Amino acid sequence: ETYVHKFDTPTFKGEISVPLGLYIDGKWVDGSSGNKIDVINPSNGKLITKITEGSPKDVDLAVAAAQKAFDTTWGLHKNGFERARLLQKLGDLMEQNADKLAALEALDNGKTFNWARTTDIDHSIRCIQYYAGWADKILGQTIETSEAKLVYVRHEPIGVVAQIIPWNFPLQMMAWKIGPALATGCSVILKPSEFTPLTALFVAQLIHEAGFPAGSFNLINGYGHVVGQVLAEHNGIEKIAFTGSTLVGRKIMEASSKSNLKKVTLELGGKSPSIVFDDADLEQAVKWAAFGIYYNHGQCCCAGSRIFVHEKIYDQFMQRFTEHTKSLKVGDPFDPEVYQGPQVSQQQYDRILSYIKSGKEEGATIVTGGEPLGQEGYYIQPTIFTDVKPSMKIVREEIFGPVCVVIKFKDDDDIVAMANDTIYGLAASVFSQNVTRALSTAHKIRAGTVWVNTANMLYPQVPFGGYKQSGIGRELGEYALANYTAVKAVQVNLHLNLS
Ligand code: NAD
Repeated sequence: ETYVHKFDTPTFKGEISVPLGLYIDGKWVDGSSGNKIDVINPSNGKLITKITEGSPKDVDLAVAAAQKAFDTTWGLHKNGFERARLLQKLGDLMEQNADKLAALEALDNGKTFNWARTTDIDHSIRCIQYYAGWADKILGQTIETSEAKLVYVRHEPIGVVAQIIPWNFPLQMMAWKIGPALATGCSVILKPSEFTPLTALFVAQLIHEAGFPAGSFNLINGYGHVVGQVLAEHNGIEKIAFTGSTLVGRKIMEASSKSNLKKVTLELGGKSPSIVFDDADLEQAVKWAAFGIYYNHGQCCCAGSRIFVHEKIYDQFMQRFTEHTKSLKVGDPFDPEVYQGPQVSQQQYDRILSYIKSGKEEGATIVTGGEPLGQEGYYIQPTIFTDVKPSMKIVREEIFGPVCVVIKFKDDDDIVAMANDTIYGLAASVFSQNVTRALSTAHKIRAGTVWVNTANMLYPQVPFGGYKQSGIGRELGEYALANYTAVKAVQVNLHLNLS
């Protein structure tokens, strides 16, 4: 069964056809439960279509198919060059369908077509192409021990892996996950977010077209507490990679520890600081701090949601930052003038508004924003809070919306402790024109990424991941390969008669 959506928008016109089933063992199937999941358009809260809901039985079928592929046609049975060719083909097909992918992402997630096209889709294509490059460059080592021995180390694909992804960057999260897994020869079972399944379904079709062997990639849509939980508990899965909330990350680890100790990598939440020193280029700092929090409607795990500004430039910064915030146009994701579309879902919309309410109740001041927008859809104004205390919920918890707190600081010695006063450690931004000050601060911040005079920049070749409760392991770059390989040492006795 497929769904055809007709677009007639200022940025995209045309028809896109999306399969609605589960993709198991190289075939589209209906699923064993007969249940469906509603796919909602966040611009108006209306139904787009219904997709198949996977069940525990479907997970078993996918695990069996993935294992069979690993043992017969995939894993060690396709060499690196062949895996590279398949990934290159997939990258090419995604490139040919880039506009369609951007339109689907805008429809399903609410991010604007233009942002989706120039960031999500381009980055996803580059990520797949980047890992195509690694597929035939997986290197082991030979290690000197004694002249009578040959010892070498192989980096073998780990086996069947499950990958659970969120709704904030549906296609990018898929690319980050499947790129290194398929490059190393692992068989994949992907569970997209139930809120944003459409681009993953479309790309599954492209994976099929590229000619990946049946069972090497499987896609099961479904709810987290059902399909996600079963994947995390499954004894036939060797590794699980998860991106999403810290709460669910804990459940994944727990399920792994109670089942087969499958290897776990987690990319979780954040409450990232942006630090603006008094010697920063103010115009640049305003621009990047705004991008840090408002990009993707604040729905970034690395969003710079706590902005610390030196007291000497605080007033100037606030004036420009407030102006900039007020100038951001919120509205229809297919309008080329719009910066910010709707939040992804009713749940997120309600959650963000309840954080705004708690900020007001706890005595913080709203400088601008703080209200929902429009008659329908999940639109929220970009919002700045000041006069906050370190204990407030809006300072401590991840809001995952276009809401930031701006905090004044006095001296350089305090700021590192203030920035590090969080359970998270995903990212940070530092703005200063003094290289020593910027870098010494960058080195003291407990976070997996520090941007200096920029924000939210990601490259497929640069590792990304969290300190503290922001996660375990690193994605992207060469580092991600280690998540999907097992290290095997082979010791050979050469039977040399050496004295
Ligand atoms: P979530 O963690 O509930 O969902 C992420 C993925 O995990 C989805 O595919 C979901 O189906 C699955 N999942 C849910 N429960 C599961 C379970 N028990 N076992 C296995 N998988 C399960 O995130 P959410 O509810 O969509 O968003 C809630 C909050 O999480 C957000 O407000 C934000 O704070 C955070 N979040 C962070 C990121 C990130 O990139 N770090 C992404 C999305 C959400």
